Amino acid sequence: MSYQNKKLISIIVPCYCEEESLSVFWTEINKVTQNMNTVDFEFVFIDDGSTDNTVNILRELSFNDSRVRYISFSRNFGKEAAMYAGLKNSKGDYVAIMDADLQDPPSLLPEMLNIIENEDYDCAATRRVTRKGEPRIRSFFARMFYRIINKISKADIVDGARDYRLMKRKMVDAILQVGEYNRFSKGIFGWVGFKTKWLEFENKERIHGETKWSFRKLLKYSLDGIVAFSSMPLYISSVMGLLFCVIAFFAIIFVIVRQLIWGGSAYGWPSLVCIILMLSGIQLFAIGILGQYLSKTYLEVKKRPIYIVNETELDNPLTSASKSDGGAASNDTVFPDEG
Ligand code: UDP
Ligand code: MG
Repeated sequence: MSYQNKKLISIIVPCYCEEESLSVFWTEINKVTQNMNTVDFEFVFIDDGSTDNTVNILRELSFNDSRVRYISFSRNFGKEAAMYAGLKNSKGDYVAIMDADLQDPPSLLPEMLNIIENEDYDCAATRRVTRKGEPRIRSFFARMFYRIINKISKADIVDGARDYRLMKRKMVDAILQVGEYNRFSKGIFGWVGFKTKWLEFENKERIHGETKWSFRKLLKYSLDGIVAFSSMPLYISSVMGLLFCVIAFFAIIFVIVRQLIWGGSAYGWPSLVCIILMLSGIQLFAIGILGQYLSKTYLEVKKRPIYIVNETELDNPLTSASKSDGGAASNDTVFPDEG
């Protein structure tokens, strides 16, 4: 294959406070990519408003290797926004998304490339078949979530699916067309369609630091996913309303008939209180569901940007410093906060 025909692979790496992981990640990814000679690479790191040294490391990587680009957000916008920014700014014919903590094994890349180049697939995605190293209760709720969401939505969301995947440009463009503010990528990937082959691997624990996902965050994320990809909760609350109307109708007939036949039915206020309590509870619940959809709609119509850029490789202070003092970037500008 001649040099001009080489395809470009963009590797998108969302990073939030990954100063400890990045150097190991960089070594590992290079071990894999340097053996893949039929393609070129670009690396798009997204610094998602990290509060540690991440951006300095990215500046340095980009300064030393022109294939490395980075986008640094003005604050933490979340991994979804980071992935969107990466996809939007990637130039590759193929695009991969990969975590910085090496939980997504780079060693799968050659196989993924082979799949989309030589087999009839548009995307090679990964799922973990075990959840080793994860709290039991979290795995249980995760499984339940996947079961529920697949029942109530059309988007095909695979249990254990990672965001780690290699896609053809046409799929990336389709994902970018889904410009919604409340992004639930696991759903969007499935929703856009295209032929996807799933590779399976065993769960790996992250190399450094801790997951940024607390149980509460995960719960909120899964509820957001349900709201984003299904209107079933609204349907359920309508059906519930109708059901209670029917029950009430028969209860009224029953009460009237009983009064006419036996009379003296002015008793039973405790049961009345219970019924009122339950029904008003259900009403509030249904209004709450409505509110969830309304609040998402509210955020969508505001059309706020999904992320805000603070700095990219084009503003890299190291590059401008080296230009002004004739090419020498001294080491103490690289890690100003270290020590
Ligand atoms: N991440 C991010 N923004 C966030 C949280 C996480 O860009 O607000 C990145 C993080 O740096 C990592 C990836 O998303 O590269 C996955 O995060 P994490 O390992 O915490 O999640 P898990 O692997 O446990 O699902
Ligand atoms: Mg991780």
